[in-house]
Amino acid sequence: MRTKGYFGEFGGSFVPDVIQVQLDKLTEAYDYYKRDEIFQQEFRDLLKNYAGRPSMLYFAENMSRDLGGARIYLKREDLNHTGAHKINNVLGQALLAKRMGKTRLIAETGAGQHGVATATAAALLGMECEVFMGAEDIRRQAVNVYRMQLLGAKVTSVVTGTATLKDAVDQAFAEWVRRDDDTFYLLGSAVGPAPYPEMVRDFQKVISEEALEQIKAAEGKMPNEVIACIGGGSNAIGMFHAFVPYPEVRLVGCEAAGKGISSGQHAASFTAGKVGIIHGMKTYFCQTETGGIADVYSISAGLDYPGVGPEHAYLKDSGRAEYVPVTDSEAVAAFHYIAKTEGIICAIESAHALAYAMKEAPKRSKEEILIVCLSGRGDKDVAEIMGMN
Ligand SMILES: *Cc1c(COP(=O)(O)O)cnc(C)c1O
Repeated sequence: MRTKGYFGEFGGSFVPDVIQVQLDKLTEAYDYYKRDEIFQQEFRDLLKNYAGRPSMLYFAENMSRDLGGARIYLKREDLNHTGAHKINNVLGQALLAKRMGKTRLIAETGAGQHGVATATAAALLGMECEVFMGAEDIRRQAVNVYRMQLLGAKVTSVVTGTATLKDAVDQAFAEWVRRDDDTFYLLGSAVGPAPYPEMVRDFQKVISEEALEQIKAAEGKMPNEVIACIGGGSNAIGMFHAFVPYPEVRLVGCEAAGKGISSGQHAASFTAGKVGIIHGMKTYFCQTETGGIADVYSISAGLDYPGVGPEHAYLKDSGRAEYVPVTDSEAVAAFHYIAKTEGIICAIESAHALAYAMKEAPKRSKEEILIVCLSGRGDKDVAEIMGMN
């Protein structure tokens, strides 16, 4: 049974009434435009002509040979305009906002990557943009703040609470309610109350739709395993979606184990979390002893989120997908390895998926195929990794 806005028992919409009013309008608009051929065509045109899709499915021959097992393919989301998969989602939501008659996009951001993506879409579509960011994060991410400003966005410092992401989320919701007439809240991952998880999935599913066609053309068969890193889960759900109906394709999500699960310093929602309500949805998240949201940690800002999208919770509990922890040090080793073997500097987030593939490939025969989602490029991470040496 599938109730609207739910994936099995997960998802839903656990928000105050004033926000539910907004969500209902959004749901109505999205239900309409997802079936609107002109809207879908315009979205596809932007993906092609602006984001640069389709992204390549690249056979990593050097890595495959060196690891001595399965053939490894990389889905190159790092080659998209702005350097990651996030552009797919922001273009979709910004286009929907315009159709709804909105002139202003708001977003919250932690490390700044989603803020930069949202500011990009706003600039392209001629919309106003305001990004809420914790004062502490603004200090740590000065270059991304400047990028957003270059793109014409206003960055608003949030000084309440711990002055980080969760406070920025609260402020963005408050602003959405306050300026309902012209403002659209653009969410950055497949998380939050309905309809966001499903809508973001729909804007990201192009990743697997392309990959399915590309692997059939290259190999004439299905992959054995599809692998992606998980923060909120948008690149992973985009990478999984078209393969879900094929049970012979194993789906594996790699979550951030940080300094190790037992250290308590991680962001592994499935490995170490429990089911509850977080950010308006029912899903797994990292909890304190009293059921609150735990402080989480990962070397990668994009995976440093306490929860995970509800569709992943459903895929896990139904046994269709598996989720594994990958530590900082495994990810850093993979980051170095792919740079040397393939000449690709990938995002430290994506390196989590790659680290798992490096363990998995040697166990499999040379006829088998793994596809890894390379969710982004690593220019943003070079300075930090350099500092570790
Ligand atoms: C934001 C980000 C992620 C994590 O977000 P998901 O919603 O889980 O995909 C992963 N990789 C990169 C490169 C990112 O920028």
